[in-house]
Amino acid sequence: MDRLNEAAELLRNAPEVALSCHVGPDGDALGSMLGVAWVLRNQGKTVWPSFGEPFVVPDAYRFLPVELLVAPAEVPEAPSVMVTFDAGSADRLGLLAGPAGKAEHLVVIDHHVSNQGFGTIDLIDPAAAATAEVCVALLAELGWPIDPVAATCFQTALVTDTGRFQYSNTTPKTLETAAAMVAAGARPETIGRHVYEEVPFGYLGVAAAVLGRARLDPDRRLVWSVMTVDDLDTAGIGMDDTDPLIDALRVARESDVAMLIKEAGDSRQKVSLRSRGRVDVGSIAVELGGGGHHNAAGFTFDGSIEAAADAVISRLAPVE
Ligand code: 5GP
Ligand code: MN
Repeated sequence: MDRLNEAAELLRNAPEVALSCHVGPDGDALGSMLGVAWVLRNQGKTVWPSFGEPFVVPDAYRFLPVELLVAPAEVPEAPSVMVTFDAGSADRLGLLAGPAGKAEHLVVIDHHVSNQGFGTIDLIDPAAAATAEVCVALLAELGWPIDPVAATCFQTALVTDTGRFQYSNTTPKTLETAAAMVAAGARPETIGRHVYEEVPFGYLGVAAAVLGRARLDPDRRLVWSVMTVDDLDTAGIGMDDTDPLIDALRVARESDVAMLIKEAGDSRQKVSLRSRGRVDVGSIAVELGGGGHHNAAGFTFDGSIEAAADAVISRLAPVE
């Protein structure tokens, strides 16, 4: 890819780099950005890695080198070089869409099929399981070493975006990249423990409430539930602690699609969708102002919980 070379030359010559991943960052967004930021810093560059408000790192990812992060307000308003990670469109950057729009050179590193490209150099590979796969290819082009800290970042991204290497996006290249990260010092058990084996105790109560109100729509093969602000308040945990909930819902054998509506306050809902493959939930999310992939997508809905549910249900045809 010529553009890989172009991006590599840009970064090689840049003394300072602003970096941003998408709002509400997940393992791929944070892992990709922090891994690249760590390597750039090892090369003596000044880095400003950040993400738009709310500027809160989920507890599960605090074992990554989060000390590199700067608040979004500290990112230069018009950086000379900026790189974005795992954001399928500029609006997914929240507050940092401003600096991205004003950057002299903007490298967009991503793997969303829906990404039309919004950089001066777009490195978008829909065949990549995670944005981190593209990041590792870029660092190979640069010839810059990946140390154990950076390897842990990229491996976290690969593990989370592939559901621990079990989703259909897992390719030989994904596994080769993961093997290279383990060889470079990433510890699978450390990542597994932080990301999958530890939740705050309050999460158990929220999971009980959400699973307790799960509903099955057998005609549409949809399983869905709602998480309320009250569930979180009662348990004393935050929205960012609840990422694993959708995975607990989606296992219902009678379902092809899972939906979790998370009440976000002010009559806004954050909706997560998952598919087993028959239904393209990515295009449903795009129609409703969000985005994502064929099997994992989401959107934010202005309106009631019932209206959010209806918007999705009305787009699912009953199965014969
Ligand atoms: P989650 O359900 O875990 O929040 O998100 C699943 C995937 O859907 C994410 O990896 C992301 O690609 C996409 N996604 C979730 N929410 C939004 C949204 O509000 N807008 C867009 N464009 N994509 C989203
Ligand atoms: Mn991703």
